[in-house]
Amino acid sequence: MSPGSGLRPGPEAGAPIAHVGLASPLRFLRGVGPRRADALERLGLRTVEDLLLQRPRTYLDRSRITPVALLVPGTEVTLRVRATQVRTRRVGGHRSLLTARLEDEPSGRAGWVEGVWFNQAYLAERLQAGEALYVTGDVKTRGGSLRVEVREHEFAAEAGALSAGCIVPVYPLTQGIGLPWLRRLVRRLLDELAESLPELRPEVLPESVRLSRSLRPLAEALPTVHFPPDLEAARRARRRLAYEELFLMQVAFATLRRAAWRPGGARRIPVPPGLDARIRRRFPFPFTAGQDAVVRDLVADLDAGRTMRRLVQGDVGSGKTAVAFYAVLATVAAGAQAAVLVPTDVLAQQHEEGLKRLLEGSRVRVARLAGGEPRALRREVLEGLASGEVQAVVGTHALLQDGVRFRELALAVMDEQHRFGVLQRRDFMAKGAWRGGVHVLAMTATPIPRTLALTFFGDLDVSTIPDRPPGRRPVLTRVVDPGGARAELDFLRRELDAGGRIYVVYPLVEESEDSDLRSAEDGFRRIRERSFRGTSSALLHGRMAAAEKRRVFEDFRAGRVRILVSTSLVEVGVDVPEASVLVVMNAERFGLATLHQLRGRVGRGDRPSTCLLFSSRRGGDAARRLEVLALHDDGFRIAEEDLRLRGPGEFLGTRQHGLPVLRHADLSEDADLMDQARQDATDLVRVDPDLSGPDGGRVAEAVRRTYGERLDLFHVG
Ligand code: ADP
Ligand code: MG
Repeated sequence: MSPGSGLRPGPEAGAPIAHVGLASPLRFLRGVGPRRADALERLGLRTVEDLLLQRPRTYLDRSRITPVALLVPGTEVTLRVRATQVRTRRVGGHRSLLTARLEDEPSGRAGWVEGVWFNQAYLAERLQAGEALYVTGDVKTRGGSLRVEVREHEFAAEAGALSAGCIVPVYPLTQGIGLPWLRRLVRRLLDELAESLPELRPEVLPESVRLSRSLRPLAEALPTVHFPPDLEAARRARRRLAYEELFLMQVAFATLRRAAWRPGGARRIPVPPGLDARIRRRFPFPFTAGQDAVVRDLVADLDAGRTMRRLVQGDVGSGKTAVAFYAVLATVAAGAQAAVLVPTDVLAQQHEEGLKRLLEGSRVRVARLAGGEPRALRREVLEGLASGEVQAVVGTHALLQDGVRFRELALAVMDEQHRFGVLQRRDFMAKGAWRGGVHVLAMTATPIPRTLALTFFGDLDVSTIPDRPPGRRPVLTRVVDPGGARAELDFLRRELDAGGRIYVVYPLVEESEDSDLRSAEDGFRRIRERSFRGTSSALLHGRMAAAEKRRVFEDFRAGRVRILVSTSLVEVGVDVPEASVLVVMNAERFGLATLHQLRGRVGRGDRPSTCLLFSSRRGGDAARRLEVLALHDDGFRIAEEDLRLRGPGEFLGTRQHGLPVLRHADLSEDADLMDQARQDATDLVRVDPDLSGPDGGRVAEAVRRTYGERLDLFHVG
């Protein structure tokens, strides 16, 4: 087998394969067949390699069978029993409860315990037949006696040779694939490949790394992760495989970061102390300690003779804009151009005004390019950028269009960078017209746990603003269920009487089939015609024309409009310090991170601020999620909770497709491994920047195999 063929499709012939390799399609293996192969594909398993690299969902420990007579509440046990007195009962809706008396041989008649299965009524008949089975579950006390809530079970006859005395893997299953069968297939392939595995899949990790991190060879870890001698060995084997995944990912990132050091990068932007002082004087406030530290990072980057690739993370309201504008001012002072890319028109307008205010009295020209400008104006801006007459520009995607040329763009800022897709970020960083390299400063207000940050922004250096400007009071947050709405209406009226301004956010623009959701249009009508007649209100949503949006927003900022009804458009970055109340309708429809960002729209001024999360649901998961917001004010804490409650895929929503290939690594568990892998990857790339040495070569090959021929395809964001 030629090197690197491990992941390419194998022979597509119809006959069973004589020599099984890692790339062999499962379809052609003895004992699989087309029907099962289709089912396996539904599980994402196409080749032998897919099958062997899958991570067992959990294990059943049959090396220790507990006698029924010795059960202790609060433990997890495995029993070998027969069932009698099987009963099923409906417990509301489609749910059912199956109970049986479980007796084991050693305990005999004297020892039995009640076993409980949830929603598996179909088992009743088979259990009744009295076959021996293994059950694994939790021992609980209920009404004074013990019971075992069964999580996994398997009939002894099916478990076969892989039953007694072993720890066996449990895999995700689908219709047409039984666990015992799948387990036997994995066992057989591991046995068949035992000899040739080191050759088929040469060790990827450099030996120095394996030694210093005490990692076993892959050929040992792979069988162990499926059939471990004990659970501790399983844990170590999983971490070994996880480490390799994280290492390859971090090598990919390290090479990308390294590429920024290539000669011919962005021009140097020196910031001598005199200039630093002049820039700071333009801001109406002194920087916080957090802002100061980030400014120091930026200044070092800009004058380091390499191209800056930095992400500034900071909670909503931490003052990221000021830091970015500092970099913009330094860039224009050096005679080069700066561009600020934002996701919405409203934000473009706000930042344009902010920059103009900062630069008042100087000769620096600031422009905006957000699409939808009159032609003549657009032409003027384009000409100004090409000639260099316009030194700073704020814009939306319109900035990325062909035809936008700069005389000398040196700095590109991306605000709310998480709103931009993978490709847009790459576009922005690699734009052909912006030859010579551009310093990139990305900012994100979605605080994400560190492991995720290292996954998604691993190619960037990260600075964090940990504090907030002084004098901020926490936003009082209440979850409001349908019964509490009336009282809150009174509260809102009092706020308005006292001169407050209010955001009201809906999940949808207009009515949809999903009838329990209120739309912004519908809500706006009620607010204007009923609940708040006589108070000026306006509607703002993404489908309105840009100029219209800007006008509505301007009215709200100036106080001519007191209630701004919108979709989550206001989530990103808008800054109206006078607004003191945020109301979110159908709050259960939003992710916690989004809600936290939305909440960041208030609490920016001197007024005590309130956030009301209206939910049509009472109790349950949705309410619990919302309570996290009522309890916590810190975006990082909320993000951790969100990650825990929803798992990484959902947490990242649409970005999920960019997830690197991680089968064994677990982003919420393996923070320590991630740090180690990042360290080792950085060391490797420092010693061997082109990955051309013997260690580097093998690693590079594996990175390419995993992430595609072109490393930069790996550029997630
Ligand atoms: P975000 O990090 O969410 O983008 P902004 O940059 O919009 O935050 O800043 C939030 C508010 O705090 C703005 O009104 C801004 O003018 C103000 N602000 C920023 N830095 C400071 C500071 N050092 N002292 C006082 N106010 C500040
Ligand atoms: Mg911002």
